Amino acid sequence: MALNKSESKARLEELKKILNYHNYRYYVLDDPQISDAEYDRLLKELDALEKAFPEWITQDSPTQRVGGEPLKNFENFTHPFKMYSLANALVESEFLDFYQKITKEQSGGGLFNSISFSCEHKFDGLAIELIYEDGKLAHASTRGNGEIGELITTNAKTIKSIPLRLNEGFPSFLAVYGEVLMFREEFLRLNQEREEAGEPLFANPRNAAAGSIRQLDPKITAERKLKFYAYGVKTSADDKVFGSIPSHYEKMDFLKRLGFPVSKNAMRSGRLEEILSYHKKWEENRDSLPYEIDGVVIKVDSIALQEELGFDAKAPKWAIAWKFKPARAQTKLEDIIFTVGRQGTITPNAVFQMVSLSGASISRATLHNFDEVERLDVRIGDTIEVERSGEVIPKVVRVIVEKRPSNAVKKDPPESCPVCGERVFREEGLSAYRCLNASCPAVVKGKMRHFVSRNAFNIEGLGEEIISRFFELGYLKSFADIFRLKEKQDELIELDRFGEKSVQKLLSAIEKAKKIDYWCFINALGLDYVGEETSRALADRFLPLAKLLEAKEPDLLTVGGVGEVVAKSIDAFFQNEENRGLIDNLLESGVEIIYPEKKIVISSKISGKKIVFTGKAEGFSRDEFGELVRKYGGIPAENVSKNVDYLVVGENPGSKLDKAKELGIKILSDKEFQEMLQ
Ligand code: AMP
Ligand code: ZN
Repeated sequence: MALNKSESKARLEELKKILNYHNYRYYVLDDPQISDAEYDRLLKELDALEKAFPEWITQDSPTQRVGGEPLKNFENFTHPFKMYSLANALVESEFLDFYQKITKEQSGGGLFNSISFSCEHKFDGLAIELIYEDGKLAHASTRGNGEIGELITTNAKTIKSIPLRLNEGFPSFLAVYGEVLMFREEFLRLNQEREEAGEPLFANPRNAAAGSIRQLDPKITAERKLKFYAYGVKTSADDKVFGSIPSHYEKMDFLKRLGFPVSKNAMRSGRLEEILSYHKKWEENRDSLPYEIDGVVIKVDSIALQEELGFDAKAPKWAIAWKFKPARAQTKLEDIIFTVGRQGTITPNAVFQMVSLSGASISRATLHNFDEVERLDVRIGDTIEVERSGEVIPKVVRVIVEKRPSNAVKKDPPESCPVCGERVFREEGLSAYRCLNASCPAVVKGKMRHFVSRNAFNIEGLGEEIISRFFELGYLKSFADIFRLKEKQDELIELDRFGEKSVQKLLSAIEKAKKIDYWCFINALGLDYVGEETSRALADRFLPLAKLLEAKEPDLLTVGGVGEVVAKSIDAFFQNEENRGLIDNLLESGVEIIYPEKKIVISSKISGKKIVFTGKAEGFSRDEFGELVRKYGGIPAENVSKNVDYLVVGENPGSKLDKAKELGIKILSDKEFQEMLQ
């Protein structure tokens, strides 16, 4: 059913409300009422309406969460209130000092304590400030030096649990403080992707969250599934809404009603034993959470008392972060084994007697590279200390040299690849040893796994195990073989643990994957040094693929994040006959690259306006006119009709001018038109 303009507008407003509401149910109440598919359908409907009427797009629309154009740099932002840090307690006695100081002062030294504390998780992420004006997200910023931070509004919008507009009852000005986090699962996924691409890994979820929120390209932030939890709020002095709420705990409750996710594991108590056991409970159970915490924060709950206690130069006197001990354990190193990545890089791994660290049983840790093995001087048979603190991947901290047995043995870098047996090379200046055999099974299988991964061809059902099996059976020698699997359908059905149904499912997933976004295609090829981010940058810069194939080192160097080594390597990759053949094969087997639509780059007075041109103009040709209109968000049209907004008239106009006059359409000279683009 087609809607007229006013019906469209009403539907659009309704959709924004509905989507906001379901976002709130999902992220704040944890109680979704509709399926993800239904949500996506509504979002698509809104998107279609906004495409038809771009002038109706508002900053708080749920469609604006995908991220806009990349920024050149971050602007500074002066916080309306100073963003403080927190005082730390590393051991129980330090916490008790804090507790006793406050309770003694307040109860006049008596034994009876009626002071309540809010006990919360100390989220291990990045603090941000969100400013809402009239219920709409106006600015988001990082802490910076506490007085001036960096503006990251577009990035913050991509975080789905940050409300873009608030539920009813909000004050006209609101500053909300909270933590941006990356859940462990997303962190592991991201690092795996980076490892396969040969990109540097993030040390822990906190670094990953910080690196993701401080991305100049908001699309990358949107890709990394970040979360937000609120833990503080400030309003203007005369605010009636929050001003009358007497406790921190209740303020948090009110924030939740307005649409902010807050911790479900906060507790309010005035009893010391309860506070001590809160700390103990979470120190022991931190691994049961989907995110990292590095302690608990204990805050005086009464706002009046908070105000009385005040601040010192760096932190409030009414709160303390009581940190957890980093989880460390000693164990015996049994072996150092080598794994081979898809770039042929050989990584040494420590294998040790199983130990339990803050809840998780671990028996392996990466040693990163052979420089690290040297630095630690770690030998098989040694007693080593392993640590897991914030870092999800355990690491070997040191060797207990005094406990070294006389038969401890050094492990040298391998001379031949542990998988294919070919000679191993060490590139000059790099710490990595590599197997350069392009047909090394570890390399081929690794590349294949990357090829089908999420931001590449995204083929569900073609997991590590199946790739290995198909490879051994000789079905998968090169990428294009994936798209030829359907010719082997009958054989596949006969395989052990396969059946008609699962084969059908796999083959249809493969068919579906043939249509692929341009940047994902580049990423899938698995070039050295080229991960997700560089793939995106290359796709933006070299359009279509033919341009990328021809790109030379100097052109490549103009792409953000591409240095000399990377540019050389990309150039060499596309000059290589075999690689060219591989790309041709893919295209021949039906792979179709989807190029990005031309984006609306600039919004202007002609955004969303339908515009026709007649005659000859000085500044532009007819084709350029179309491009110009599109670039500034307008819609170029050929013929004058009553839904055209403007006719631009050059020299020697044709009959279009008469028709436009007849229909009462606004007429612009080419100068007036160009002025509207300012
Ligand atoms: P620190 O970085 O050690 O100075 O600790 C202060 C930081 O702890 C703040 O800037 C916040 O980013 C963070 N934080 C995490 N959880 C909380 C919480 N529940 N309340 C206040 N701050 C928190
Ligand atoms: Zn090898």
